Amino acid sequence: MTNAQSILEFQSNVSLKGRNTFGIAANAKRFAEVTDESALQRWANEHGKNERPFILGGGSNLLLTADIAEPVLHIAPLGIRVVEQDAASALVEAMAGEPWHAFVLWTLERGLCGLENLSLIPGYVGAGPVQNIGAYGVEIKERCERVVAVDLRTGELKTFSRGECAFGYRDSIFKHLERDRYAITRVYFRLSKTFSARVTYGDIQSELAANKVASPTARDVSNAVIAIRSRKLPDPAVIGNAGSFFQNPVVSVVKADELSAKHPTMARYPAPDGVKLAAGWLIEHAGWKGRTINGAGVHEKHALVLVNHGGATGASLWQLAQMIQVDVLAKFGVQLEAEPRVV
Ligand SMILES: Cc1cc2nc3c(=O)[nH]c(=O)nc-3n(C[C@H](O)[C@H](O)[C@H](O)COP(=O)(O)OP(=O)(O)OC[C@H]3O[C@@H](n4cnc5c(N)ncnc54)[C@H](O)[C@@H]3O)c2cc1C
Repeated sequence: MTNAQSILEFQSNVSLKGRNTFGIAANAKRFAEVTDESALQRWANEHGKNERPFILGGGSNLLLTADIAEPVLHIAPLGIRVVEQDAASALVEAMAGEPWHAFVLWTLERGLCGLENLSLIPGYVGAGPVQNIGAYGVEIKERCERVVAVDLRTGELKTFSRGECAFGYRDSIFKHLERDRYAITRVYFRLSKTFSARVTYGDIQSELAANKVASPTARDVSNAVIAIRSRKLPDPAVIGNAGSFFQNPVVSVVKADELSAKHPTMARYPAPDGVKLAAGWLIEHAGWKGRTINGAGVHEKHALVLVNHGGATGASLWQLAQMIQVDVLAKFGVQLEAEPRVV
């Protein structure tokens, strides 16, 4: 079916099973692939007053518990280019539909540093700013200079400075306040031409040592991150998952001390507004690691990752997640928040 010719082409009743990394069977009543920013602008200009679309990237931070009634816009424009540079840095424009990891490799091949710790995160560039993706002590906000998005109510292009994105821990205005209002079409990254290693987090240092790398390059750090992630995280192509299902909770120092007194081995990290606890530790010590209910499971090696063992529905995964939330609250007095979007 063609909707408002040459603007966007919508298909009816499209399966989303291959478009979410949990591999959940759900349909989009209407679905359009958006490869052209200006076509999206024209569509929003004509339909934005009446339609409230649902924005989809690679579906790697999504739990579908039902079909999607809203028109689904799969944001997929392609292209990467250096827009300006000097001796110290380059400003790189990446279109929203570029696969994130391939983009990181593109920057490293050109000697541009800053994203190496974020290697191998699934999904597309456009979703990166939505939850301020982060890994191994680095967040996208450190390198994201601005974001360009189409206002889906008016069709206007709007540029958001880093400050206007209101980045927080796994958060930005695109994740909650303005969700589905702004379709991010382009992201601009300020990348360095000199490398400054950030290797104190997680196992990067021991991975480099095992590889006998004493003075790592950005590429060495990326390779180390790829190796660690490949060992630790289940591959969605093999077993459905959305990475970490819960955010690491931040609690007051008083609360953290109270828990540490009872559980001396509990992992804790200083945070600007209190103490960050490891959600995986709480889930594991509440006894959930490796458990499975109705095809929905807690990964046997990584308690923070919920998995689809094959027959899970979105509802059974969400039920498992809620059982974990209730139990962790009862046992530790800590509320866990889901990281993926639950629909
Ligand atoms: C194995 C695995 C490991 C992971 N590891 C990490 C990790 O280390 N760190 C981390 O932060 N995340 C991680 N994730 C989560 C996920 O990969 C990221 O959040 C990723 O950025 C999501 O991208 P996506 O394109 O799949 O977005 P989707 O899942 O399609 O969408 C996620 C959200 O962003 C919105 N959105 C998507 N595209 C756009 C756009 N162009 N404009 C506006 N809104 C948009 C959607 O509406 C939705 O609310 C992991 C996931 C998996 C499966």
